[in-house]
Amino acid sequence: MILYKKAAALSAYLAKIRQQGNRIGFVPTMGALHQGHISLVQASKKINDLSVCSIFVNPAQFNDKQDFEKYPSTIEQDIDQLEKAGCDILFMPSVAEMYPQGTIDAEHYPLGYLETVLEGEFRPGHFQGVCLVVHRLLDIVQPHELFLGQKDYQQCMVIKKLIELKKSNCALHICPTLRENDGLAMSSRNVRLSAKDRARAPKIYETLTDIKTNLQTGDLNQLKKRAAQKLTDGGFTVDYIEIANADNLEILESWNGETKLTALAAAFLGDVRLIDNLLLAD
Ligand code: AMP
Repeated sequence: MILYKKAAALSAYLAKIRQQGNRIGFVPTMGALHQGHISLVQASKKINDLSVCSIFVNPAQFNDKQDFEKYPSTIEQDIDQLEKAGCDILFMPSVAEMYPQGTIDAEHYPLGYLETVLEGEFRPGHFQGVCLVVHRLLDIVQPHELFLGQKDYQQCMVIKKLIELKKSNCALHICPTLRENDGLAMSSRNVRLSAKDRARAPKIYETLTDIKTNLQTGDLNQLKKRAAQKLTDGGFTVDYIEIANADNLEILESWNGETKLTALAAAFLGDVRLIDNLLLAD
């Protein structure tokens, strides 16, 4: 695996690779890698000649300073895991390298409704920061294929929109959420949970699964209310647990039995914020 820290050097190398007719797959991450991240590298390797992973904890997407400061970092283990997975290139830029002009005058991305609901509502500015970094990374890497995890469902939709807005011809692959044996979605933030909270954490997936099991046509409010109560009783502070149209994230109060649905949740255990989602009917 080759490690790049400079955008220009990486772009120049990848231009040569592209000219030789090779296909490039790209997996952007914030590091503290787990098997979920590695599954994206594996998916990329299956259909590309060269796979690039980036590790960059993007300050522009953190609306909570503490969350940024406490974001886990395990660079040596990350490099080891990427090597073992057969990743070809690791891009690990500094903040100055990514944002040489700073971010004050950053471009505004017209995301519309998508950034007003769910994560957009509870993390103001978050998706603008995500678009800023992904836009810059796509310009540097210019991949044929981009690999994202369904774990961040709304983020996938935002990046799909970014790709449309920028008229990029990069193909987006959304890969399944990898889970621990007890159902907890793998996440870099899980290591910050206390032992007590780690034991409570699988309740998010359990609650989403309950919604799926008990889903009926008609009113959805009772189902959502029971789900929120279950999380609160389980020791969570709930930001939201919602049922939405899986194609556009319109929040639904009732179901016609046909619309493709997804259930999405965000909740705190202590100061650790966890998110998860589950497709209900497709
Ligand atoms: P992050 O480092 O959290 O920004 O995540 C980098 C990429 O890995 C994103 O596309 C995430 O959706 C994806 N990802 C995170 N957790 C998982 C998981 N448990 N399973 C699959 N993909 C994941």
